Amino acid sequence: SVFINEFAILPPDLPKLRARLFANENPHGIAPSAREALVKAADLGNRYVWMEFAQLKQAISENEGVKPSNIMMSPGSSDLLMAAAAHYAKGGGTILTSAMTYDDLLERAEKFGAKIVSIPMTKNYQYDLATIKAKLTPDVKMVYIVNPNNPTGTIVPPAELEAFCREVAPKVPVFMDEAYIDFLEPADRPKLGKLVAEGQNVILTRTFSKIHGFAGLRLGYAIGQPETLKALRQYTNGEFAVSITTLMAGIASYKDVDWQNHCRTENTKARAYTAKALAELGYEVIPSYANFMLFPIRMKPKTFENQMFSQGIGIQTREFGGQPFCRVSVGTMDEMVAFVETFKKVVG
Ligand code: PLP
Repeated sequence: SVFINEFAILPPDLPKLRARLFANENPHGIAPSAREALVKAADLGNRYVWMEFAQLKQAISENEGVKPSNIMMSPGSSDLLMAAAAHYAKGGGTILTSAMTYDDLLERAEKFGAKIVSIPMTKNYQYDLATIKAKLTPDVKMVYIVNPNNPTGTIVPPAELEAFCREVAPKVPVFMDEAYIDFLEPADRPKLGKLVAEGQNVILTRTFSKIHGFAGLRLGYAIGQPETLKALRQYTNGEFAVSITTLMAGIASYKDVDWQNHCRTENTKARAYTAKALAELGYEVIPSYANFMLFPIRMKPKTFENQMFSQGIGIQTREFGGQPFCRVSVGTMDEMVAFVETFKKVVG
């Protein structure tokens, strides 16, 4: 699993990292407003969390054009991915997706007995929706799409995505993993909440782990039909798995649009700097819309990874079709300068 790998790659004698660029985290931390809410909420720690969900669901439903009953909160989005894996793999069948995508849900679904069919990406490293649609056979139980995609950082244009959902969702649920959607400018985001409002079986998952910096605090949610959410809930501990501290911090962070804009702007700047520096070194970076980027390297992946780590720069490597790639998360500008300098040394 990609998610597990992000931690499994850490050598036990890890040198102190100068740049932690292997897990697509937010290097700017949580919003000061979220921190304040979190500390205050510590005094409520003796009570089960209950009414407080309504506040956040109300805010989300207004933004997304859905009802609060279309929303289910969760400790991060991974739990929702795991629930969907269990639910849609039950009794076998196929899950249709793309190659070069986030495989956490897919690996779990395979363990539960599903067959995974992964359609190759287009030459621009995008989801090939036309071919995915053509492969919709009666045994397909769910289509899994990650947009913006991890690890390529690419997107499907919103209009194409919407048309795809309108055509496919009446036949089979479309699961849209939108973990990185907040890195798109608001006007450029697909607005698939409206399909949910129309009654389509589209499931959107979101996380606070990225733009909100909550990877360690754990908060996420699904948007979908109430009966779909009810089905997924069978495989989780329910919303009680979210702590009051995280929830109250999440409410503050969700409303703190300035902080989200700040993090997005910094991400865009540091990403552009890194892509340009790599291009000048003759490396072709796949244009990224997220807080990480992927590019082909010319070294053995493990050798490259170990050399980067030993110089305090944590990154990830992947291999697709025998071609090694580096996936580097976007850190602070200082971290990206350190990454580029170290990269130059390592590749000679
Ligand atoms: N989906 C994608 C595409 C991801 O890259 C990740 C984590 O990196 C997740 C889901 C799960 O993140 P979390 O459980 O922190 O919400």
